Amino acid sequence: MKIRSLLKLTNTYFLALSLIALLTLAIFITMHQVILTQRDSAYLINLSGSQRWLSQKASLLSIELVYSKNPAEQNLLRHNLLQIVDQIQSNNQLLLKGTPDKPQHLSPMMKSLYFNSPLNSETHLQRFTSEALALAKEPSLSLTPNNPHFTYVLQNNETLLENFVSIVNQYQTESEAKIQRLQLLNSASGAIILLTITFLGVYIFRPLTNTLVAEKIQLEKTNQELSLLSSMDGLTGIANRRQFDQSLAQLWSLASRKTEPIALIICDIDFFKAYNDHYGHLQGDECLKKVASGLKESLKRQGDLLARYGGEEFVVILPNTDIDGAAKVAEVLRADIEGLEIPHLFSSVSPRITVSAGVACLYASSTSSPEHLIEAADQALYQAKQTGRNRIVLANGLAIPQT
Ligand code: GH3
Ligand code: MG
Ligand code: MG
Repeated sequence: MKIRSLLKLTNTYFLALSLIALLTLAIFITMHQVILTQRDSAYLINLSGSQRWLSQKASLLSIELVYSKNPAEQNLLRHNLLQIVDQIQSNNQLLLKGTPDKPQHLSPMMKSLYFNSPLNSETHLQRFTSEALALAKEPSLSLTPNNPHFTYVLQNNETLLENFVSIVNQYQTESEAKIQRLQLLNSASGAIILLTITFLGVYIFRPLTNTLVAEKIQLEKTNQELSLLSSMDGLTGIANRRQFDQSLAQLWSLASRKTEPIALIICDIDFFKAYNDHYGHLQGDECLKKVASGLKESLKRQGDLLARYGGEEFVVILPNTDIDGAAKVAEVLRADIEGLEIPHLFSSVSPRITVSAGVACLYASSTSSPEHLIEAADQALYQAKQTGRNRIVLANGLAIPQT
């Protein structure tokens, strides 16, 4: 994935995360607001409710005052009535204006209930409290059932109570509506969070994961190719010297565990320097490729390993093969290369490309090593060269005549 599109994905990811954080904050604030609203409305509803109770109490005290004949009792009732009226007025202030720390904001509907017809609740309350106050201050002689202040208090108490019920209901309705709006906001924020998370999954995480998986697969493939390349000969495509050394060590220890023989053939192209000199290096390379694939074709057994030993030398490891078996394979290889009929007019042994081979076989043991095997095969190869080329020689010195 290109760096720019990865950066774009990362930016979108952070944007989406910020959106989620903001919405979560919004939900938190909304929940907080819901709690505050519920607390405020409970306070206002309680206050309005206690206004009802106080106005009823004022009416009762007025009756007791008018019918009381005991001056001391009258004084107490006057005092109580004044206190109740005072309480009603201060509660009314709280309902209308709140406190300096927590001012009360009336809704238009609430204002209309307090100040406009038909309820005119505020006018009624003011009148009621002033009549009750006047009654509390009336001289004892005027405290009769016909007293106009008393008559007013008695007749208007019911209206005042109804007003308070309407106000409490309005508080209730407004608080429920506000909570409903907040809940709607909450649900919308929740839905947007879910959508954002889905968006993150589909447009950010899925492509990101796909890219990572694709890159991992590509990396593994490249690694495999690299390790194959590092074990392969660049020119001929068969195993290289490094791979040969590793394989020989492994096969040797396997053979030593199983007490099996392991054989080695080293083949060397005859007069290859002359071939290069006359046909050119490029054609020399082509010849090496043909010889390598010819040798590969001739090897039938799965476990046998062909490698380029260096220059124009090839090597074959034959696990679990005795010297006779190895001699047969070596002879097949030699004959097949000759059978390729690659012209080599500058060879002193044949008009075609030929190989000489040294063959060795050992039982892997604690006293022998892969190096012994290589040395023995190398010496046999030397013998093959010395004794005329285009032939194979076994490590015990036995040259196999060409067929
Ligand atoms: P002998 O029969 O004794 O083996 O003689 P020779 O000429 O084959 O052996 P010598 O060791 O004298 O020369 C080997 C030549 O193989 C030398 C070099 O020019 C050639 N050679 C080695 N590696 C490569 C290669 O990768 N490509 C090509 N084109 N030639 C190579
Ligand atoms: Mg050589
Ligand atoms: Mg050679």
